[in-house]
Amino acid sequence: MISKKMEGLVKNSSVIRAMFEEGKKMMAIYGADNVYDFSLGNPSVEPPVEVKNAIIDVLNSEKQGDVHGYPVNAGFEDVREAIAQSINHKYDTKFHADNIVMTVGAAGGLNVILKTLLNPMDEVITFAPFFGEYRNYVSNFDGVLVAITPNTATFQPNLKEFEEKINAKTKAVIVNTPNNPTGVVYSEETIKEMAAILERKQKELNTSIYLISDEPYRELAYDGVEVPYLTKYYANTVVGYSYSKSLSLPGERIGYLVIPDELDDSDDVKAAASVATRILGFVNAPSLMQRAVAKCLDASVDVEIYNRNRELLYNSLVEYGIECIKPQGAFYLFIKALEEDDVAFAAKAKEHNILIVPGSSFGCPGYCRIAYCVDYAMIQRSLPHFKALAEEYKK
Ligand code: PLP
Repeated sequence: MISKKMEGLVKNSSVIRAMFEEGKKMMAIYGADNVYDFSLGNPSVEPPVEVKNAIIDVLNSEKQGDVHGYPVNAGFEDVREAIAQSINHKYDTKFHADNIVMTVGAAGGLNVILKTLLNPMDEVITFAPFFGEYRNYVSNFDGVLVAITPNTATFQPNLKEFEEKINAKTKAVIVNTPNNPTGVVYSEETIKEMAAILERKQKELNTSIYLISDEPYRELAYDGVEVPYLTKYYANTVVGYSYSKSLSLPGERIGYLVIPDELDDSDDVKAAASVATRILGFVNAPSLMQRAVAKCLDASVDVEIYNRNRELLYNSLVEYGIECIKPQGAFYLFIKALEEDDVAFAAKAKEHNILIVPGSSFGCPGYCRIAYCVDYAMIQRSLPHFKALAEEYKK
């Protein structure tokens, strides 16, 4: 018999994955070209050619034991140093190998840092709408996720409520910018205000509150928007990065944590993150991919492909009367459902063979997420169906 905790988790298991499965079934019935599956954030853009070349290069040029053996739990020292230098170059920071822990994607990194920091019943604040898996990651370590209600006018974080919710049990705050599901990039002004609140509260409560910046979409930003590097604004920041989206490698499970020297108890946090990587059963991030990404530090997917999708979909949906904030990053649109019940609206969209995810999965009912990391041609084919969906509500 499975555990009580898992029973609940299986029951509530990802709506997004369920939709993806549903899409597959619908494609068998209606034909692949007649189903418009916008449910999953699986990158549609090919990894840059540098990745394949780097993998081949690693396999050809390194001693095989150096590629496939166990590295230290935090990852190969030379890889971590190369990543640290690349971050320094881009963001004018001063990291070194010791500040980097290689992780099994952003998901692995979040679990490592939460295991490192949380005592049972510690609170972790995040801002709705948020990546639904945060609930599970925090519950893995018996923490309590506290969601701040969304500011639907801008989808910038609601800082007034944030300040009110911070208390002696608050151990960490997770932010995700560019954001899944809204595509919003938190402005520098927002970050500065957030940092000031955290500083104030740390002093007032005489405690450490860690800001965890979940950044799988850092590289996917449009119109030249700046994505602030959060360690520069608040010393107690841990960055969780991933190559899943920036290099289109979600199946390869590779990313890293940045744990700055300026962090409270930095040496303990670094050591604990290394041990957490081991004892969570990751042992270390995939060794071949560590070596490969170190050779691709300046590579990126062709963001223009996502940008083209964004422009077409956003402009068309707005024209049909669907409300949405124009996303500045990631590859999601977060639309206002045309009825109050977002689950009912997603079901109605399904009647038009359109698969979108209800905002309730992201702690934000009344909205739905459209993942536009899909073929441009599919978006083109889907438009008359979105139009028909919108018109149904005008009747
Ligand atoms: N965080 C956010 C906000 C995400 O959207 C995702 C994946 O979609 C993850 C973390 C997990 O990413 P990874 O594949 O790097 O584990």
